[in-house]
Amino acid sequence: MSSPPYVGRFAPSPTGLLHFGSVLAAIASYLDARQHGGRWLVRMEDLDPPREQPGAAEHILHTLEALGLHWDGEVMWQSRRHEHYLAALQQLETAGWVYPCGCSRKDVASLAHAGVEGPVYPDTCRNGMRGDELRGWRVRTLDSPIHFRDRIRGHLQYNLHRDLGDFILRRADGLFAYQLAVVVDDAEQGITEVIRGVDLLHSTPRQIWLQQLLHRPTPHYAHLPLALSQQGQKLSKQNLALPVDAAHAPQLWWLALQFLGQHPPEALLGAEVATLQQWAITHWQLNRVPRDNQPAPTGLEGNA
Ligand code: GLU
Repeated sequence: MSSPPYVGRFAPSPTGLLHFGSVLAAIASYLDARQHGGRWLVRMEDLDPPREQPGAAEHILHTLEALGLHWDGEVMWQSRRHEHYLAALQQLETAGWVYPCGCSRKDVASLAHAGVEGPVYPDTCRNGMRGDELRGWRVRTLDSPIHFRDRIRGHLQYNLHRDLGDFILRRADGLFAYQLAVVVDDAEQGITEVIRGVDLLHSTPRQIWLQQLLHRPTPHYAHLPLALSQQGQKLSKQNLALPVDAAHAPQLWWLALQFLGQHPPEALLGAEVATLQQWAITHWQLNRVPRDNQPAPTGLEGNA
């Protein structure tokens, strides 16, 4: 059977402006797609209006353009796709995989055991909601292995129920969870390759589980190392990561290629974006990307 044509994507959340960490995900996913002659799509993950920063989505798109990261087709906006998320949730409900949950974060924390990403939901409401305030809807997970081969990290295996637990698909206030939306949209857009930061590594088994329950295909995954602040934390709005400046696009390309282990030749130092990009598409090698997180380049690491 021939494999489907390569379709990659970059899926930023407009909760802040692009920082160096998000530029890495954009550039790596773009280069891998272009080198394979594939399509590269942009999806704006504007699922959570209270956490959004006004103007961030436009700023992100503008910065991508300044970096010469031209996407194929139209940008997909998650805020316009609620009916699709609802349909997927209903499909899971009909099949008996979803249950209402009345637990607060505090309830969970007091009873949970530690998993690979913090407290694991202790199944409190699995057989009927406790308490009378609905907090959200969860999907059941099983004590059986979910495994995948990460293109950078090799073979990984999880026991979803023990390591991560039943997780939220929709909150009581109506907001759909990232895990559900991403699975619906990756399938809708025909995504075959996901390249993103390793902070989302433990989301992958959850997403594979939903793909299995919803009969959607599983893409290939690669999780990039993170660029760290001076204090060794992931760059984020919370630690005041500096937004990247579109006016410095060639320098950003240079720094991103170095960070990603691609060793651009000295002769390209100071070259235009188009030249760097052309070199990078031709020479891109995912197997040169380091696994370990590294400090962000000086000046881009934020100050908290
Ligand atoms: N929107 C997510 C973020 O900005 C990334 C989603 C993904 O790549 O799957 O962290």
